[in-house]
Amino acid sequence: MSAPVTARVTGWGMAVGGDALLLQPTTLEDIRAALTYARAQGLRVALRGAGCSYGDASCGTGKLVVDFTRFNRILEFDRGSGVIRVQAGATIGDIWQHVLPHGWWPPVVSGTMAPTLGGAVAMNIHGKNAYRVGPIGDHVLRLQVLLVDGTERTLTPEDPLFFAVIGGFGELAVITEVTLQLKHIYAGQMDVDALCGSNLAEIFAIFDDWQDRSDYIVAWIDGFAGGTGLGRGLVHMAHQLPPGADANPQALMTVAAQTLPSRLFGVIPKAWMWVLLWPFANNLGWRLVCWAKYWSGRLLEHGKRYRQGHAAFHFLLDYVPNFKFAYKPGGLIQHQIFVPKAEAQRVFAEVFRLQHRYGLPTWLAVMKRHRPDRFLLTHGLDGYSMAQDFAVTARNRQKLWQLCHEVDAIVTAAGGRFYFAKDATLQPDTVLAAWPKENLLQFAKLRQELDPEGLLATDLYDRAVAPALRKLA
Ligand SMILES: Cc1cc2nc3c(=O)[nH]c(=O)nc-3n(C[C@H](O)[C@H](O)[C@H](O)COP(=O)(O)OP(=O)(O)OC[C@H]3O[C@@H](n4cnc5c(N)ncnc54)[C@H](O)[C@@H]3O)c2cc1C
Repeated sequence: MSAPVTARVTGWGMAVGGDALLLQPTTLEDIRAALTYARAQGLRVALRGAGCSYGDASCGTGKLVVDFTRFNRILEFDRGSGVIRVQAGATIGDIWQHVLPHGWWPPVVSGTMAPTLGGAVAMNIHGKNAYRVGPIGDHVLRLQVLLVDGTERTLTPEDPLFFAVIGGFGELAVITEVTLQLKHIYAGQMDVDALCGSNLAEIFAIFDDWQDRSDYIVAWIDGFAGGTGLGRGLVHMAHQLPPGADANPQALMTVAAQTLPSRLFGVIPKAWMWVLLWPFANNLGWRLVCWAKYWSGRLLEHGKRYRQGHAAFHFLLDYVPNFKFAYKPGGLIQHQIFVPKAEAQRVFAEVFRLQHRYGLPTWLAVMKRHRPDRFLLTHGLDGYSMAQDFAVTARNRQKLWQLCHEVDAIVTAAGGRFYFAKDATLQPDTVLAAWPKENLLQFAKLRQELDPEGLLATDLYDRAVAPALRKLA
């Protein structure tokens, strides 16, 4: 094991985190040695994938952060069955690029291809198809985990621990390998329909109308619009092409054909595109960006159907790498609320109005449809989520956290939940209000059995979950 280095480890949004000791294991023995080293040094351990969680979910201030990005081999892939086995640090990008030419695609992907499979499974990520296929955990066939006492275990859906480790945000065991069932695709592109909704009611109506006949649905919402346009936005529905719909599918089922262009207008390098956003990185500028996005969508896209490559549809946010740099120096947080179907429209409207009253409108809001699942600390429910980005500044920080707490109260009163991957602000009492008591107690019991000394602990765990579990005890 190489020596750990001191590093500043922040969440993806750069707004939270702190100094830690960082290790990047490349072998299973390195991972074991990291746990032994931490114990010997009296350090606790925060597990980290690619660090794509927006808040402090993979931060370990004053701890040993074990980063899996160099433990990233693809171990096995069966082209016939679409079953793939990878080390925890292999990314969603590594996987789709490996399997696409053989007619397969990851069953669930996030809005960026950067996350590792270990991180994705630990958070139980969802895609734009969550309402149809559930979270990624529903497609995991087997997990290989390392317990903190150094023993290895294989977990399958027959084992109740499987449903706790998936979505257990790295607090029960170290995921070392993931075996995943991929999904068959028959073309390199999908049919995509675009529709504008001029307010929240129209957006919900579009979801209702299209969900049974689309493989993926996602809505971008203009967080600045108010009055009769509150919650207006643009909805995209994607449909997988059936066998035979593309006469020459192999032509576009290549990595080269999917790869996002490296230059904007063939001129500006992608890596620098975020600089173009910089002048707009204030409420006035972003209002203008949202206004332009909405009206260009209404005039140019509304009612149109077009074909789009899988990578371009799924990883739109990767089009502008490091777009988060436009939020410097304070960074950003994302707050994703999950609300049962019957309450979602009312709650989302109330939340947007509250943000306007606070003078803290979200700069990017994305709405998705979800379904319930069997995972112990799931964020999934029969309803909708709204993920919302907020710029953090030294001046607005306290007010922004207060806004999130007010929103949390509205969401929990409606029977809603939150997502640890998108959290920096949850309070212990909100955790207690959002998840069933018996699930939290079961989680605490498993943790006591598997990690009695409390070796695994991210900043998120220490901030929001551990105090909640202590209150329950
Ligand atoms: C631009 C962008 C778009 C996104 N879009 C979506 C989306 O559409 N849907 C969605 O669900 N999420 C989305 N996310 C969030 C992201 O998918 C999750 O945060 C995911 O968990 C990140 O994976 P990671 O490898 O970066 O893990 P990290 O963020 O580093 O860690 C995530 C969690 O996993 C734990 N962990 C990491 N590795 C292991 C391991 N080997 N064993 C056990 N625990 C481990 C960590 O302790 C932490 O709790 C998005 C993030 C970004 C930045």
